Amino acid sequence: MSFHATLTQLIDVLGATAENLTEQALTQTAIGITIDSRSLKPGEIFLGLRGEKFDGHDFVSQALKQGAIAAIVDVQFQTSNLPILRVKDALEAYQAIAHWWRNQFKIPVIAITGSVGKTTTKELIAAVLSNYGNVLKTEANYNNEIGVPKTLLELGQTHDYAVVEMGMRARGEIALLSQIASPDIAVITNVGTAHIGRLGSRTAIAEAKCELLAEMPQDAIAILNHDNPLLIQTAQTVWQGQTITYGLEGGDLHGQLIDAETLKVGDRSFPLPLVGQHNALNYLAALAVAKTLNLDESALSAGVDVAIPGGRSRKFELANDIVILDETYNAGLESMLAALQLLADTPGTRHIAVLGTMKELGDWSVPFHQQVGAMAKQLNLDGLLILADQAEAEALTIGADPLPSEQFSTHEAVVARLKELVRSGDRILFKASRSVGLDRAVEQFRSQF
Ligand code: ATP
Ligand code: MG
Repeated sequence: MSFHATLTQLIDVLGATAENLTEQALTQTAIGITIDSRSLKPGEIFLGLRGEKFDGHDFVSQALKQGAIAAIVDVQFQTSNLPILRVKDALEAYQAIAHWWRNQFKIPVIAITGSVGKTTTKELIAAVLSNYGNVLKTEANYNNEIGVPKTLLELGQTHDYAVVEMGMRARGEIALLSQIASPDIAVITNVGTAHIGRLGSRTAIAEAKCELLAEMPQDAIAILNHDNPLLIQTAQTVWQGQTITYGLEGGDLHGQLIDAETLKVGDRSFPLPLVGQHNALNYLAALAVAKTLNLDESALSAGVDVAIPGGRSRKFELANDIVILDETYNAGLESMLAALQLLADTPGTRHIAVLGTMKELGDWSVPFHQQVGAMAKQLNLDGLLILADQAEAEALTIGADPLPSEQFSTHEAVVARLKELVRSGDRILFKASRSVGLDRAVEQFRSQF
């Protein structure tokens, strides 16, 4: 059975005050907690959260009409006869209930954070573990202060493992998520430069990621990317407990790429479920989780099935031997470099990158775009088509010089040019920050075939 608690239990957990609830009403069992009145089922509790556009407190009456047994709120209402558990802060209450519910379970909870590759690694870990039992995992990218509790509240008796993604934008956020989830295993994929504009330095980012370790129980196990020295170094300052490292350059689990599709660890070979060296590293993290849990790895020798949410290392084979690599989900420095490497590693005649701006980089924006251009040159790509803001477009062009590069200001223009250029055997990468909407260019281009 998934989430259930009596109102009395919840009052206890939250230190809440009951209003307009009789002694008998307090013995009722809530069979779920929802923060969205549209999906509320009779018998659940409604919890009012304030979002960017809406305040859940405005939907309390509607939720109660739909069959909510009570509402958890942190405001005073004009109508005073509603069945309510009043708390100081509704979001904190949501998190406290999720923490309490998580503690009802003895199954391994695996938390994942890092600058890039969290969702991919989460999906890979879930895919691996589903060979051994029933896995609860973060849906899509619900990795924040609401998404993590939401995931934990879905824990039920049928689950054998929980795999929880944790994201952050600022210091202190991962610490809170770690406290809520009390992970048994913590995976940190890497420390890069995402949000560096806000956090100030790579060291500050490393410290923020390592809050996951600092806040987890002492007997938990850390799984860390060996190939990221800053991560390993920072982790050591906050975590003295058990640690397993993985990497393509070394580590306790040292993987070697035999070819683009096979990873060797020790004397075992594993088929890779996703293309690209960065995904081989992500898969090693998943193998490290299996090892930590003492699972028999022979179950994995035939490979695992994984479906990664769109725009990440997705390959489309078009007519005329033309291949698109769709990396349009998002882009930061590390994922740009990984995607260019993936393009270069994809056998084909010519390799062309359609690149857009990496956003939110503050003072680092120009140097990072220049670095991406330089990587394109180093990999000897055949050309860049750039759909970026002025300064960033210039930086890409300068970094890539003397590679041919062309700049565009609309999706339509870049697609039209690509259509003119394209030849049989071409491999074409599309990558930019999500807000550039380069996925639209992928769609426009694909629709021509
Ligand atoms: P978000 O912060 O948006 O939740 P995330 O950390 O969950 O992102 P993913 O969604 O898995 O990351 O991947 C984002 C991008 O980074 C994708 O384009 C993917 O191909 C690339 N990527 C994934 N893993 C790595 C890695 N280990 N190193 C570099 N790039 C990676
Ligand atoms: Mg994610």
